[in-house]
Amino acid sequence: MLGSPRGAAAPSAASEGDAITNDPVAEGAPVDRSHPAPQPSAPAPDSPAPDAPAPAPDAPAPAPDAAASDGPPAARTRRTGWIVAVALLAVGAIALAVGLVLLLLQLQTMQERLDEQDQRIQEQQDRIEEQDELIEQKETFGAAMQELLNTAARFETVDVGGLVPQGHLTYLAANAWRHRHDAAGLDRDIADVATATADLAKQLSDAQAAASANASGSAYETVLDELGSGFVTTSIDDADTLCGEDVAGCVVSADPRVVHIDAADDAMPYMSDWLRTGVAYHEFAHVLQVTNPEPTEVALSAFGGDLETMADCFALTYLDGWSLDHRVWVSANQYWDVTLGYGHVCDEPQRQAVRDWHAQLGYVSQPVSQ
Ligand SMILES: [Zn+2]
Repeated sequence: MLGSPRGAAAPSAASEGDAITNDPVAEGAPVDRSHPAPQPSAPAPDSPAPDAPAPAPDAPAPAPDAAASDGPPAARTRRTGWIVAVALLAVGAIALAVGLVLLLLQLQTMQERLDEQDQRIQEQQDRIEEQDELIEQKETFGAAMQELLNTAARFETVDVGGLVPQGHLTYLAANAWRHRHDAAGLDRDIADVATATADLAKQLSDAQAAASANASGSAYETVLDELGSGFVTTSIDDADTLCGEDVAGCVVSADPRVVHIDAADDAMPYMSDWLRTGVAYHEFAHVLQVTNPEPTEVALSAFGGDLETMADCFALTYLDGWSLDHRVWVSANQYWDVTLGYGHVCDEPQRQAVRDWHAQLGYVSQPVSQ
């Protein structure tokens, strides 16, 4: 059926596809569908005409859920923006944290390297200080050793041998070489050298005091102090018993720097200071023989190995006017014929052998490597 004419119907109704057959324009008039229909100047009221057909009850209505879940486009953009922003912040925070951790690790590594360098520098410093200390100790030892050698050199004018322990000096120098990297060892060596120097210095001072005094008040001691530089002691005692035979005097090899004089012989009426002097020379030769064994061994060949004729020769060589046989007048008509010695007056070659022997006695300074 045809609907009633609605004049300028709402264009929305036309665009919504109402039945074209209801459009009055379409009736009998050409339609230009490429152009929209002319718009009225004022919209018609929304309410449909009373006789307008109602929409079909079964027309599909827009789904309410779809409209609610999608929401407005602007809200979705803002939410997406927040998500992106939060995600970017999270990524940035993680990157910052990782960066900080890496930085801390790098700083820690650098600190460890600095600590290692500090430790190495400290170790090098310690080694340098140890070297400096060792150098100082070696200089101290060298000075102490030189003082010891200088003190030992003062024994060069003494004929009595065995006073300077040369082997000990060499041992002390060798110790310092062994301890050249050992500060504590060098300290002990320095102390040992100082002790050795003090021992030698005390021997010298004691000898000087002994030489300047005459405890026995005898001619023997006067001679022995001079010949022995104070290192030989005079003991007037029972020499016959001590040495096991009838002697005017003797020397025991176990204590070679003591000359024993037989008191009984010394008390004989013929005894004089001249005879005492000759006896002292003879006994002093024994002191030299015992305390200088190596050169004595060589010199003895000139005397057939006889220590006594060699000792007599020493007295004959160095004591002017000395002889082995003496006639001693004790009164106007009494005399003693006294023989001191072993009956052999040495010849010139033997006397030269004694001089050669005597020239090499006593201490001779020797270089000590340090
Ligand atoms: Zn003798």
